[in-house]
Amino acid sequence: MTQEQLPTPLPKARVIPRSDHPVSRASISDNALKVLYRLKNAGYQAYLVGGGVRDLYLGREPKDFDVATDAHPEDVRELFRNCRLIGRRFRLAHVHFGREIIEVATFRALHDGNGDDVDGDVKIEDGRVLRDNVYGTVEEDAMRRDFTINSLYYNIADFSIVDFADGMPDLDAGVLRLIGDPEARYREDAVRMLRAVRFAAKLGFRLDEATAAPIPEMAGMLEHIPQARLFEEVLKLLMGGHGVATYQLLRRYQLLGYLFPETEAALTSEASMVPIWERFVMRAIENTDQRIAEDKPVTPAFLFAALLWPAIMRRMDRGDDVTEPLAADELQEASSDALVQQLQRVSLPKRFSIPMREMLLLQARLERPRGKRAMRLLSHPRFRAAYDFLLLRAEAGEVETGLAQIWTDRQTSAGGPVAEGKLEEPPVRRRRRRRRPRTRPQA
Ligand code: ATP
Ligand code: MG
Repeated sequence: MTQEQLPTPLPKARVIPRSDHPVSRASISDNALKVLYRLKNAGYQAYLVGGGVRDLYLGREPKDFDVATDAHPEDVRELFRNCRLIGRRFRLAHVHFGREIIEVATFRALHDGNGDDVDGDVKIEDGRVLRDNVYGTVEEDAMRRDFTINSLYYNIADFSIVDFADGMPDLDAGVLRLIGDPEARYREDAVRMLRAVRFAAKLGFRLDEATAAPIPEMAGMLEHIPQARLFEEVLKLLMGGHGVATYQLLRRYQLLGYLFPETEAALTSEASMVPIWERFVMRAIENTDQRIAEDKPVTPAFLFAALLWPAIMRRMDRGDDVTEPLAADELQEASSDALVQQLQRVSLPKRFSIPMREMLLLQARLERPRGKRAMRLLSHPRFRAAYDFLLLRAEAGEVETGLAQIWTDRQTSAGGPVAEGKLEEPPVRRRRRRRRPRTRPQA
């Protein structure tokens, strides 16, 4: 936050004692507690912050636990053998416990927009925060967080919750409100617009008016966000179990066009297929939500394929009243071109994009179900995913349900439904492991 937006003086904290709030240690992960206690016993301040406090207060299960402390990353590493320092933009300590990672962040300071009044490591360009490693107090740290409800601090020293940003009333009222001046906060980091719709959809909260108003106009600032960061965000948006609500908000606030430009263009075109494409994308996202609810594996390959489908169909001039089956060579070209364009905006690692393309190309073969070659499709490693994709196309009304039925019957006569395979390649193991997008393990 730049100095002009600084609330002066810093707000007085409201302390909610343990007796007056429902957040109990019993629902905090043992590993997070271990980290909190070890920091405290070493003489540091240690708080649970962010989604951990927010979700527990709301009676939900947090996705992960984040810790904030006055210990510097190097101090944290001294305390935990299983600790790795990560990040450039924000230096953080990750404490590893098997599969669980507790993220430990050092309190960050507020500084002016130039970054030249402090000794720390800061880089700001046109109001965008590119690097921010100046350490500060817990009050300052609270003001730099995004939403008021994400700025509640659970203090391990006395189990109270400290509210520096008036988060508690918003949490009770179901309101998502940025701390500080919304436009300035979006300019610092455009991803906050995506986070706003993500939390609104997940929690069923409404966006405060001042927080919502600048979004459509500022959505274009997402163009400056690195593709890899947007990939991670897209996964959190659409593979977090609340995809449908999130997708609707992304469209309502005109954000989808900056994540999937050709998809948005297809869906807002004059083509008579638009309602069918809409239904198809929606069904695919609904299907993803449902699979997550049932603890079934989901993969970005399928989701990206579905989102790109309207773009591919538009590239193939199939926007109006086309009845002939897809031509394989045209499909191949349109898929490649659509993917190349899409990768300008949001990255998609090859281990997803390669199987995604195979699955997309199979659509042309599934549309020609006769002949010996067609029979062999059942044993194609991407058959099952392609068939599921075809089912959604049929449900949306893009292809005849009879076509999907042919493939259903084929499987039955071949001994039952083809088993679900993997629509992704195994992750590449690097020597120094980096954080990978959180996708569900494949069955
Ligand atoms: P969840 O983990 O459920 O996605 P969360 O609120 O914990 O939600 P994280 O991405 O884990 O979100 O971040 C933890 C906390 O860090 C947030 O609650 C917020 O206080 C702060 N934070 C994260 N990203 C930003 C950002 N772009 N700008 C400002 N503060 C942020
Ligand atoms: Mg979190």
